[in-house]
Amino acid sequence: MTNDGSAQTLLILGASGDLTARLLLPGLGALLAAGDAPPLTLLGAGTDAWDEDRWRQRVSDAFGEHRDAEQAARTLASTRYHSADVTKAEDLRRLLADADGTVSIFFALPPAVTGKACEALLDVDLPEGTRLVLEKPFGTSASSAASLNRLLNRIAPEERIHRIDHFLGKSTVLNILGLRFANRIFEPLLSSEHVESVDIVFDEALALEGRAGYYDKAGALADMIQSHLLQILGLLTMEAPQSLEPGEFRDAKAQALRATRLWGGDAKESSLRARYTAGKLGDRQLPDYVAEEGVDPSRETETLAELVLAVDTWRWAGVPFRLRSGKAVANSRKEAVITFKEPQRIPDGLNGPERPNRLRIGFGPDCLALDFTINGPGDPFELDPITLQADFGPGDLPAYGEVLRGVFDDDPLLSVRGDVAEQCWRIVEPVTKAWHAGEVPIVEYPAGSDGPDGSHLDV
Ligand code: NDP
Repeated sequence: MTNDGSAQTLLILGASGDLTARLLLPGLGALLAAGDAPPLTLLGAGTDAWDEDRWRQRVSDAFGEHRDAEQAARTLASTRYHSADVTKAEDLRRLLADADGTVSIFFALPPAVTGKACEALLDVDLPEGTRLVLEKPFGTSASSAASLNRLLNRIAPEERIHRIDHFLGKSTVLNILGLRFANRIFEPLLSSEHVESVDIVFDEALALEGRAGYYDKAGALADMIQSHLLQILGLLTMEAPQSLEPGEFRDAKAQALRATRLWGGDAKESSLRARYTAGKLGDRQLPDYVAEEGVDPSRETETLAELVLAVDTWRWAGVPFRLRSGKAVANSRKEAVITFKEPQRIPDGLNGPERPNRLRIGFGPDCLALDFTINGPGDPFELDPITLQADFGPGDLPAYGEVLRGVFDDDPLLSVRGDVAEQCWRIVEPVTKAWHAGEVPIVEYPAGSDGPDGSHLDV
């Protein structure tokens, strides 16, 4: 699907915020520079009383090296900023009156403000074809996600609601589809018959980095696992869709996620929550998480979360899927690792280290590696582990460029469907309930370590 080349408008609500500056505008700049966007009017809105110059400077800085490319330069020259309270219908009408062609409204707002802005939109006559683009977190539970879905469906049809999960725009995440469904080699092995376990890990060296306002209310489980890592799990476990037509693809992913539940059903056994204490991370000395500015220790927010899930389908029954994400971890690991079962039998006479076969999909650095065993060089009866590795460069577009392209093309392939957003909360809810009830005590790990003891991870 491609846009037909008619003029469009991207209206960013929350234009002076962090997401807009750090991710959204740079992605847009790259997309415009690639010549892959429609002729675009960019409108920014926020409560700050910015003048046009300040806004244009913000856009220009974020476009960076792309600012001089033809399409980016045109959008930059015509961009406008409006000071507005987007929870008021009259302000939203004023913003929309300045738009040209089909409008995509991007809610780069705190989640509570997004809800109020959507309520206000009920009183606004929207231009034909208006799209709503929503950020994570989408709700805070299955029921709040369901009521947000009901509200959104009163404003626009599902196919024009884009719930962004920018991991789906990452080229290595999308590569899971090519790896699984465009080869004969791996797919027949991807089942409980051959797979021992799967780990999906996103540990990062970054700590709180001044983002307590958002993070202390979210925590690692909601920030990373409920959203991004479950989407990766969906891609790894779904059956082959007939095509990448959005309906086909999203149905297949939804089916896998509907079959996903907590391993053994007991959060005490199958989840771990932890937060970092003071420690040295590279050349930085970090304070205790609870001493970071803006953190409320009584919330007991976790900076590392881990859970074990089961995907109860014919293909995957019995295989544990361990999902983990942590902050301020020394060994920054971002990968999905498929660990295969031991061979049925190794012939007598072949000796040496027994290392399981593993397929690793790296999400930064982006790479693919296959660990296996051969009786290679040297003593021909001695087994040696080797790794075949392919390194991928970054994709043509940053993840936000990729997801914006989908929005402008009216292609929801890379956005999360409403029912799936609810399912992803349903999957983690037994864990959040047990954590809130104090059934799983929060443990600690020093910043700059590999995380807490007691991890379920196997690698
Ligand atoms: P910020 O707090 O940095 O920005 C929010 C913006 O919303 C500010 O520009 C703020 O303006 C504006 N705003 C708040 N209330 C109103 C209002 N009534 N009318 C108009 N503008 C308003 O948040 P982020 O940019 O970090 O996050 C935005 C969304 O993106 C959140 O849902 C977050 O979860 C999500 N997200 C953020 C990521 C990030 O890395 N930052 C990553 C992934 C998702 P003012 O300051 O003037 O009030």
